[in-house]
Amino acid sequence: MKPHPFDYAAPEALDEVLDLLARLGDDAVVIAGGQSLVPMLNLRLARPEMVVDLRRIADLATFTITDQGLRAGAMARAIDVEEHPDVHLVPGLGDALRQIGHPQVRSRTTIGGSVAHADAAAELPALLLALSGQVVLHSVARGERTVEAADFFTGPMMTVREPDELLTSVWIPAHPGSVAVVEVAKRPGDFAMVGAVVAYAIADGVISDPSIVLFGVSGQPVRMASAEAVLVGAVANANTFQATVEQLREEFGLLEGFRDDVYATGGYRRQVAGTLVARALASMS
Ligand SMILES: Cc1cc2nc3c(=O)[nH]c(=O)nc-3n(C[C@H](O)[C@H](O)[C@H](O)COP(=O)(O)OP(=O)(O)OC[C@H]3O[C@@H](n4cnc5c(N)ncnc54)[C@H](O)[C@@H]3O)c2cc1C
Repeated sequence: MKPHPFDYAAPEALDEVLDLLARLGDDAVVIAGGQSLVPMLNLRLARPEMVVDLRRIADLATFTITDQGLRAGAMARAIDVEEHPDVHLVPGLGDALRQIGHPQVRSRTTIGGSVAHADAAAELPALLLALSGQVVLHSVARGERTVEAADFFTGPMMTVREPDELLTSVWIPAHPGSVAVVEVAKRPGDFAMVGAVVAYAIADGVISDPSIVLFGVSGQPVRMASAEAVLVGAVANANTFQATVEQLREEFGLLEGFRDDVYATGGYRRQVAGTLVARALASMS
């Protein structure tokens, strides 16, 4: 299928992009890596009046990685971050990026595109949520605003970003302990049927800063708060991990709108989520 006809602009300045979004709102859509948008245009799932290309805004493509975290401009490419020699300074970041599609896909995929697109089965939104990251948005009407990851994702491919707002950068803080990003997909490179980001730190055998986020299981990445609570201040051993997984499976049953579709039943996802988290917890201690 061919896209519905649209106008195309590739501004060289951020202000021009923001002016177009302010003027056109819902009728404009920005294109970043195009790995999700182009199929949506071709299938006519998106029918914008104008496509605004971000590729000429050089400032948006920069990123820095320190032991504090990753600050990525929206147009930073997934593969450039993945291959950066300091990627290990942000535990979990390299693992999350390596599980996005294939290298060819990641050579176009952008950090901002992945987060703005907010696919419920995507790795980066789940990592952002697990590590309590932030998203920076810009618009003519509201100027700059910073949104916590916990407030950003609102449903399947839905976020609090308004149509006139551009996601300009993402902050992913480095976790003080270890982070595992694990998933089950039908084939390598496919979206996850079930995935988990698990993080915690240990001092003297006692767990702190736990975080467990599941992805691919409901409309948005979801933090499993009561399972995390089992880990807080607990001794890192098999009993603690077993209790965490039992609580996780119970909490899963209470999730609103967990996925039960042609790819996997809700029961399968619940079972596999527990197994993935159990393996991650054990591998990190
Ligand atoms: C074969 C294949 C396998 C894939 N597997 C995975 C996978 O396993 N995991 C995964 O997470 N993804 C996967 N993807 C999706 C891919 O990584 C997407 O490209 C990504 O989610 C979106 O990034 P993008 O830069 O391509 O954005 P685009 O496709 O250009 O844009 C996607 C959406 O986000 C909006 N957008 C983009 N940038 C901004 C911005 N700065 N501000 C506001 N809105 C913006 C666009 O308007 C559009 O609505 C796969 C894609 C393919 C083709």
